[in-house]
Amino acid sequence: MQDKNHRIINYLRLSVTDRCNLRCIYCMPEEGIRFMPHSEILTYEEMLHLVRLCVQRGIRKVRVTGGEPLVRKGFAGFLERLCRIEGLKEVALTTNGVLLKRYAGDIRKCGICRINVSLDSLRPERFFQITGRDCFQQVWEGIEEAERVGFDPIKINVVAMKGMNDDEILDFADLARKRPYHIRFIELMPVGQNGWNPETFISTDEIYRQLLSLGNLAPVHSHPYDGPAKRFKMDGSRGEIGLIGALSHHFCSACNRLRLTAEGNLRGCLFSDEETDLKTPLREGQGDEAILKLIEWTIRNKPKDHGLLTQGPRKCVREMHSIGG
Ligand code: SAM
Ligand code: SF4
Repeated sequence: MQDKNHRIINYLRLSVTDRCNLRCIYCMPEEGIRFMPHSEILTYEEMLHLVRLCVQRGIRKVRVTGGEPLVRKGFAGFLERLCRIEGLKEVALTTNGVLLKRYAGDIRKCGICRINVSLDSLRPERFFQITGRDCFQQVWEGIEEAERVGFDPIKINVVAMKGMNDDEILDFADLARKRPYHIRFIELMPVGQNGWNPETFISTDEIYRQLLSLGNLAPVHSHPYDGPAKRFKMDGSRGEIGLIGALSHHFCSACNRLRLTAEGNLRGCLFSDEETDLKTPLREGQGDEAILKLIEWTIRNKPKDHGLLTQGPRKCVREMHSIGG
């Protein structure tokens, strides 16, 4: 289905929990987080029902996210059922990788072959500094297990931060040279109370300039449901590099996404706090027609753009872990 700005909306990001086993500095504060009561979080059954309705209105790809999806009990079983929804062409997963070693095989068996693992540093002490947990080795073993069980591609999301991990950009590029991984540098976004400031921000243009020191970067064309990453391949590399300039490059005109939060609110834009409550009508038994109308309304009224460039860095009220990135 199209929104009123003629964009075809076919991609849903589904957050299955607001809980997480890491505390990344830009996403989830160490203290003072108010998690949703379990009764407010959609059951898997409810999520499957809402996804089926979204598929009726044109969603063809679902990316499961969180919080950390793998911490929710029964996740692999849910994923299996999600993958069987008729009309869905692709199911993908974003994880911090901490529990991936244990679950990679089960996830792969569901039929998922594309996985994104977030990893902001290749140095264990720095990983600890960024995430608040000493889990680098676990994540690394998770990535290797994902490769072993046949995930292809394995995308590694790196949130680039000046003065924090920008001295590792070339190390990550080197990883893409040696291993078949897609390293994707993501600009730090102002979300929740994450202390975003211009001093820690590094743009994808700046990253690109650093990468050019390694030689030629040949552009790679995107898959139709792919997000806004600009993709490149270095000569002789097994993997790829992606640049996601969420802030500096205005890609709202090509945005094809909706987001469903763990408590059942449908969002048209990461940076708009406008949400449509789908859980209440679902739990009140209002029927599919009523919910389909709400989905249609949210699609039609998807914000035209995030306004971050014209209005200056503005924060959306929710924390990233409760939206799903
Ligand atoms: N826990 C999972 C993970 O970390 O991969 C899934 C949820 S996380 C919210 C999804 C993605 O959003 C991660 O790649 C994370 O790095 C990214 N993210 C979180 N906060 C961000 C921020 N402020 N700016 C840019 N990316 C952010
Ligand atoms: Fe957890 Fe992912 Fe947020 Fe890090 S980015 S705190 S891993 S939800």
